[in-house]
Amino acid sequence: MCPVRPITVGFVSLGCAKNLVDSEVIATDLMTAGFQMASKPERADVVIVNTCAFIRDAQEESIAEVLAACRRKQRGHCRAVLVAGCMPQRYRREIQKLFPEVDAFIGLDELSRAGALIRRVLEGERGIATISPQARAVLEPSGQRLLFTGAPYAYLKIADGCNHTCTFCAIPQIRGRYRSRPVARIVAEAESLLARGVRELNLIAQDTTSYGNDLGARANLPALLKALGRLGGRFWIRLLYGYPRHLTEATLEVMSAVAQVCHYLDLPIQYSDSQVLRAMGRPDTEQSLRRLFARIRAVLPGVSLRTTCLVGFPGETERQFQNLLAFLSEIRFDHVAVFTYSNEENTPAVELPRAVPQVEAQRRQERLMLQQRLRVAAAAKARIGRCEELLVERYDPKRRVWLARSRGQAPEVDGLVYLQAPASSLKPGAFCRGRYVGAAGYDLRAVINNSTHINFDVCSRARPPATLA
Ligand code: SF4
Repeated sequence: MCPVRPITVGFVSLGCAKNLVDSEVIATDLMTAGFQMASKPERADVVIVNTCAFIRDAQEESIAEVLAACRRKQRGHCRAVLVAGCMPQRYRREIQKLFPEVDAFIGLDELSRAGALIRRVLEGERGIATISPQARAVLEPSGQRLLFTGAPYAYLKIADGCNHTCTFCAIPQIRGRYRSRPVARIVAEAESLLARGVRELNLIAQDTTSYGNDLGARANLPALLKALGRLGGRFWIRLLYGYPRHLTEATLEVMSAVAQVCHYLDLPIQYSDSQVLRAMGRPDTEQSLRRLFARIRAVLPGVSLRTTCLVGFPGETERQFQNLLAFLSEIRFDHVAVFTYSNEENTPAVELPRAVPQVEAQRRQERLMLQQRLRVAAAAKARIGRCEELLVERYDPKRRVWLARSRGQAPEVDGLVYLQAPASSLKPGAFCRGRYVGAAGYDLRAVINNSTHINFDVCSRARPPATLA
């Protein structure tokens, strides 16, 4: 009798790192339930598209991927297509009509049921939609979470949902009210990741700075950072996606005191002009933001700052946009992402007058990015000759360099350091000191500093993080 071949599942994970963690958790559950992960969606029996529905561009990308997966099924290359995450959650009522070729839709609270749904589909059931009206859960892995990053860093979700009321944003409707994971669970997951060779924990949520507000007096971000620092050893902790108004003095002090915490802050300001911020439903003003960044620099000298801006918001004038450019130069952000505004159904901004034409919004986006590119180039030049601690990610045999990052560079979004060193001299997950010798766009080139001590003990007890087969 032929042995039964396990069913293989492939993922298309779209959107942000929060969605990536959800995909990793679903994959972990599926492995526990006896499914096998395919190295590529093209090689899978079942394809799960974990979608993003944040803005129009993200939705268009999600739709294209769903349709591509359905075409593969039509050609007989896979047996089933499931669509999960933000898009089914957001369009709960109409999604089945929009994509009749899809076998099952999975809402955010139902992600842990993916295995059962796949079995139902493979038994012949069609047109399944399991989507709660309101997302309330935080997805917890059933075992050691599979990592899709393929490098010695991982994302650690500390909360889900958002209680803010930014007038342009549909995320609170999609992801529900803010809810934090308990400190003990986050710390246990961090411990397990470190034991497997992860050397950088990137803390994520829709708003990391609100962590614990729903848990009672003793659970808060400073307490969580301290608890993670007490795990001991050499690793980095990085805070992503903060809300400027919620960054407290206590958090800054703990960031300064706990050695593992990178002096790096990702604080999406969205805009600087007070009038635009008010229309966006955000509590900051240009002055309060200016004070905040001055305070951050006072407590954390040399801090790396990342922000996100939204241009083309209804009513935005050329003068206000020029103010934004001036503000960004004044604060000297190291990393800036910029989106153009798009009308999102059921958000208050849709009702606002004086829409900015899309072509003008794109022009502003390009102007802003050009300014930022020039700033990054100048800042990179100024770093040449300096030494910094680097975390080694992997060897690139084509370029014959190691890919590494400094504490000031978050994975995937902030550029890399090309470290010139023989292939045999380093390992993924090692820390070393690099001396910058040049710059290339958003990336830097470095050599190992002669007097460096390469920290190999972290590698010897570390297995490479699990990735897809
Ligand atoms: S803080 Fe504002 S922009 Fe960010 S997820 Fe919440 S509502 Fe959306």
